[in-house]
Amino acid sequence: MSKVKTKAKRGVKTARSTKIAKARKPAKKSAAKAKVKSAPKKKGGYYLGIDLGGTNIKIGCFDSDMNLLGKTSVPTNVDMGPQYVVDQMALAGRNLLSSAGLELKDLAAIGIGTPGPADYKKGVIFKSCNMPKFVDTPLRDMVSGALGHKPAILENDANVACWGEFTMGAGKNVNDMIFMTLGTGIGGGVVCNGRLVQGVSGNAAELGHVIIYPGGRQCNCGQRGCVEAYASASATAARALEAVRTAGQTDSSLKPILEKKGTITCKDVFQQAAAGDTLALQITEGTAEALAIMCVNMLHTTEPAQIVFTGGMIAAGEVLLQRIRHHFQRHIWKLKPENPEICFATLGEDTGIIGAASLAHYSLLNNLI
Ligand SMILES: [Zn+2]
Repeated sequence: MSKVKTKAKRGVKTARSTKIAKARKPAKKSAAKAKVKSAPKKKGGYYLGIDLGGTNIKIGCFDSDMNLLGKTSVPTNVDMGPQYVVDQMALAGRNLLSSAGLELKDLAAIGIGTPGPADYKKGVIFKSCNMPKFVDTPLRDMVSGALGHKPAILENDANVACWGEFTMGAGKNVNDMIFMTLGTGIGGGVVCNGRLVQGVSGNAAELGHVIIYPGGRQCNCGQRGCVEAYASASATAARALEAVRTAGQTDSSLKPILEKKGTITCKDVFQQAAAGDTLALQITEGTAEALAIMCVNMLHTTEPAQIVFTGGMIAAGEVLLQRIRHHFQRHIWKLKPENPEICFATLGEDTGIIGAASLAHYSLLNNLI
């Protein structure tokens, strides 16, 4: 374990010590700009992190030490098509740079996180559920072209969030990490040996679609028995709804909630479980056990030092983590003790823009873009 931590520090420090060295430059702004102008692109500079969602585009401007200099959010207006969206991104990015007293020439690289699937290595979105007009869209090169042809990277939004948490959040002291976002669906990211696992076309770590119960519940992806079909917020709510409806005469406190609101949310389930409702507790246990089985499978895949959960469901708090840890120890082999840290993310709502900028910075330093 200590070996892992030493490696982790070294891996991150290489980037960070470079970042820290560069971060001192902005104190003398004119000198910093002159440096950027005359030095090769990889020597510091400033970064834009873009989190492209179907509703909003979040953009942050960062220095090379990943300090947030400014951020903004603009409507995506997906109906206007890719070129309009890219123009909006570029305008917002230029405004952020300007507000920070910077010019386009100070921009070192751009990171863009977007929902999959896509060919992330080519920077092309094939098709998007949330953005139907994005068909075979070379988004990476379009954004780069609109921002002075600066180096850019396009990456899956869950991978971007994972990288942000790994470099700047919960995972900053480890070298091997699993990351899972618990929301309407389940997204994931894997860092192995200090590198983001990307796969042949960049779509690795679709952790929500790992099958944990063969022949089990139907998943939106077409498979059966995916962890997402049991443990996402919507799956947890759906399981509760089914349970109340099939229970007949039940004294569960979820029943009056269903009668009053016409539905049950994941939040209702966790709240009633916390209040001691037996049925809500059973549903919560099912969610925790599904996530624990996923943790066991991932432990045997990459042996992470840390498994980090984020997303709306972590509002359930420590009690959810405790139940995941409980079931993890119940299902894991007994050949040797296994105690990866199972915890929550720490970066909050800016994870996407931090991760995108941090990935752009890392990719530039390592000649990947
Ligand atoms: Zn699935």
